[in-house]
Amino acid sequence: MSRTRNAPAPLNCTLELIHYGLKTFHHQVFTNLRERCRGLCERKENIRMETPSIAGSEYEGTTADTCPTCGQTLRAYRISSMPFEGCPNCGGIWLVKDELRQLKNRVDGGSLRWLNDEIEAIETTSVAATERPCVKCRTVRMVSVTFGRSSVLIDSCPQCHGRWLDRGGFESIIQYLEAELRSLPSKEIERRALEDVERIWRAGG
Ligand SMILES: [Zn+2]
Ligand SMILES: [Zn+2]
Repeated sequence: MSRTRNAPAPLNCTLELIHYGLKTFHHQVFTNLRERCRGLCERKENIRMETPSIAGSEYEGTTADTCPTCGQTLRAYRISSMPFEGCPNCGGIWLVKDELRQLKNRVDGGSLRWLNDEIEAIETTSVAATERPCVKCRTVRMVSVTFGRSSVLIDSCPQCHGRWLDRGGFESIIQYLEAELRSLPSKEIERRALEDVERIWRAGG
């Protein structure tokens, strides 16, 4: 009895088994390839979707906020340990109160940190109404402000003082400030640096 059970299967059965095995193997290979391909395509899509609007920033996750320009859900990013929100669709960025100054201070090894006049003037510059809702206050409409003597428009919330910059807005501000820095006499930079030190000293005392 045991000899019969252990006997090799007839040839036609073996061939069928091999055929079945190959079919299963091929099916598995194709399924794996298809899955890998789909995975790669999704990753590519995510990378495209998660490209932040400021070069060098890292994607952190989604947020509950909505883009005031295109309605897309905003994503959270981080640059030099500073968090900010950005739109993966239109490339705009949202900076809460004083984050624009902080972000500007980190550029070019801090060489732009003496230039605060334009940022301080955002609150007092003449404004134009917009239809864009504030990212945080939601029911409050932002106002549009020109940055210094540049052509860059910033949307500002009169309530929480958050700022919305369209795609490329931050880079344009930095270019404008870099040009301003180049045009400043060294005596003026010295004076502003001294003022800054005094301000920090007074704040500390
Ligand atoms: Zn958007
Ligand atoms: Zn607001």
